[in-house]
Amino acid sequence: MVAAFVIVFGGCVTLTPQQQEMVADVQRFADGTATTYNLPRIRVTIEPATNLGIGGRYRQGNFYLNARTLGSGNLTALVAHELAHYVLGHEPLSGPSMAELLRAQELRELDANAKAVEILMRVRGMSQTEAVRTMVTHLRGAQAAIRCGGALAPGHRPPADEIANLLARFPDSAGTGAPAEERPASSPAVAVIPVAVPVWKPGDTWTFCLESPTGKGAYVWSVDREEMVEGVSHYVIKQGMREIFYRTADLAHTRETVDGALVRQHSPSRTRYAWPLAVGTTWEQAFREDRPVERRVIEREDVVSVEGEETLTVLAGTFRTLKIAYRNKRTTAIRYEEWYAPELKNAVRIRERLDSGLQVRELVAYSLQ
Ligand SMILES: [Zn+2]
Repeated sequence: MVAAFVIVFGGCVTLTPQQQEMVADVQRFADGTATTYNLPRIRVTIEPATNLGIGGRYRQGNFYLNARTLGSGNLTALVAHELAHYVLGHEPLSGPSMAELLRAQELRELDANAKAVEILMRVRGMSQTEAVRTMVTHLRGAQAAIRCGGALAPGHRPPADEIANLLARFPDSAGTGAPAEERPASSPAVAVIPVAVPVWKPGDTWTFCLESPTGKGAYVWSVDREEMVEGVSHYVIKQGMREIFYRTADLAHTRETVDGALVRQHSPSRTRYAWPLAVGTTWEQAFREDRPVERRVIEREDVVSVEGEETLTVLAGTFRTLKIAYRNKRTTAIRYEEWYAPELKNAVRIRERLDSGLQVRELVAYSLQ
């Protein structure tokens, strides 16, 4: 795989060709902004991924972006916000006390969010409503990350306050297309057993906290549309720039793309669930997983069983679930476990054993149409 090295303070960041393209796109956005506002060109530098709540920062004519943000769905909003600091001339503050400095910084952040809307309109050609929605979605992501134990970005008020301030400045765009706020809920409804295949609707959204050996964070999964893949209807789930294709008839997992490029293909589609689901249901499946970007092909043979019913409490609430275990048929080692909540039409917890270690995802919020 071709990789480039971008020099950062005291180290290097390895970027994939796809990430290099994203960096080039960010630089074009920065150049377009400089031209539009008659300002000198600003240089984009990529910093190594950190777990701090900082996606990007602007300082004295330079714009630093955390490598982790490349490929996140929030990149456009994040870049617009940092460019707004530049356009507004936000150089380091000095003041009589820490409290006053902090307050001045918080106000600057609110101004930068609003200026970002203007930049998205003038430089990226978005409508005001689209631009406001882009910023609000980004701030909602920050809110979810905090619920998952992430840090509040220094100098910022809580995202909910920033959203309220932004919507107050653009009252025409408040409520028109800005996604509804997701609220954690708690309603341990009785699961109907056996469980039938659910129907997902465009706009259904599940937000998960993710913890793995390489980091911690939150991501939003939403049903975007239905699309035919080789003559078969699929739901398309959006997760940032990633699109995940699940067969409509049974939610079998067929493929994933990132920015339109195929990164994973299962042949045949991987059976996630054998419907109707009930305790004791078991199935076996052999399938091939192609990862063209990594040039890897993995042959798997899974034995799956619905092991039991569990009432599970996660950040999103308490739910009745069916616990499903996917084992390697040859070694009988557990590869993947999930707790499926019929009421939410999705898993509320997934434990996956990756090459790099254990990855756990837990539902933090959801919104069903
Ligand atoms: Zn800022």
